[in-house]
This record gives sequence, C-alpha cells and structure tokens, in this order.
Amino acid sequence: MSLQPKHYEEIFRQFQAPISKVYDCGKKCAHLNGGKPVCCSTDNAIPIVEKTEWQLLKSRSDLWKPYKAVTPDAKRELADLKGSDCCAIECKGVEHCERDNRSVACRSFPFYPYFNPAREFIGLATYWVFEGQCWVISNVTIVDKKFVKQFIKSHEYMFKQDEDWRETYVEQSANHRRVFSRRGDKFVVVGRDGNYYWVLPKSGGKMVPATNTQLKKLRKGFVEK
Ligand code: SF4
Ligand code: SF4
Repeated sequence: MSLQPKHYEEIFRQFQAPISKVYDCGKKCAHLNGGKPVCCSTDNAIPIVEKTEWQLLKSRSDLWKPYKAVTPDAKRELADLKGSDCCAIECKGVEHCERDNRSVACRSFPFYPYFNPAREFIGLATYWVFEGQCWVISNVTIVDKKFVKQFIKSHEYMFKQDEDWRETYVEQSANHRRVFSRRGDKFVVVGRDGNYYWVLPKSGGKMVPATNTQLKKLRKGFVEK
C-alpha cells in the first residue's frame, strides 16, 4: 500500500527536529548560492514528492506549487516521473518557509536512510552529489541525536506503510557503496546509536568506527565564506 496523506501527516508530526540546535546550516552554505541555502533552490535540487504528500501539503498551505521544468536539464530530470506516483513541486522560497509545512525531503536533507548489504536500516548517509556545496556533509558531527532519532523513527514508520520506499533506499545505499568503491574512498554513516562509522570501499559494505580526528578532515571538502 502506498503512503496516504494521513501517513504523511503522521510523519510530519513525528519528524520536526532540526539537524542542529546550535547551527543554522542555511547560513553556512548560502554564499555558494547567491545568498540562499543550496538545498532550497530548484536550480540545485528539485523537490520530488509522492502525489499523496503533495495532496497533504496543498491542503495545509499555499507554500508549494507544481514545478514546471523550463531548462533541458530539468526536463530530462523529470521525464522519468511521467506515469509515476510522484511529482515535482516548488516552494515560494526561503523567505516564506513554513517549518510545519516542509516536505519530508526538506526535513531529511542531506541525509537518506542507509541500508547495509544485509538490508538492515542502520543509520543515515548523505547525498554525496552535494559534497562541497552542503556544509552539513562536511560537518556531520553537528547532527543532533534528536534529529537522528526522529529521522529513524519516521522512516521506519514510512517503510512499514510502503515497502517500495525501503527498496528505493536499499538500492540507493548499494549505489553509494558502488560509487565510493570505484572512487576508492570511504563514506560516513551516522549510526542509529548516534555514533559515526566509515563504510569502507571494496569491502562488501564493512563498517568501522570513525574517530573525531578523521571526521574533522571532511571539513576540507567545503570552502567556508
Ligand atoms: S542542509 Fe546543506 S545545503 Fe541545505 S541548508 Fe543545510 S548546509 Fe545548506
Ligand atoms: S520549504 Fe523551506 S526547507 Fe523546503 S525547500 Fe522551501 S525554503 Fe527550503
């Protein structure tokens, strides 16, 4: 069964914590995007939601509208959506953001639920294509435990309602391992226990604890203002 508006409503209720109570990460990356947070601009990330989530969002607020692709790149990106249960939407912009009416993607970014090769949901990994643009990806230690807890609980709820979402992230996780194995590089997972781990390349997904000193080196991947 696919997620219905009432399920999204429950996810919105369960998942409200900010990534960090200390840092406003939107201020950390805005210099790379004309003064606006990188992930709040359709030039960088087009929000794709299930039509049922869109149904809920539009019943709660006029913050969102359907996104119309204009550039050839955007048209290509959205071509796969034809005939699917998902659609592209766009918000009015960061000046008009309503915390309660953010999509699940807004609440989760830059993280996705990471599954190990045994298909266990063991933590949070990042959308690596935003490396160098997203400050959080280079500063993962700022993530609050409350955010991690709510992220996990709400996504487990999501997978319970709709197995297809689990499959999507199982595939995404396998793809992450493939890409980083090709790069010969390890990547970070924020574990369900709030600790940090490396997923080693060409290892069949083997994980080892990450030290603070090692994690600090990730900061080099982001050019601060
Ligand atoms: S999540 Fe990343 S891209 Fe989005 S506002 Fe925060 S630092 Fe910027
Ligand atoms: S709703 Fe808020 S968090 Fe989501 S894209 Fe718009 S400005 Fe960013």
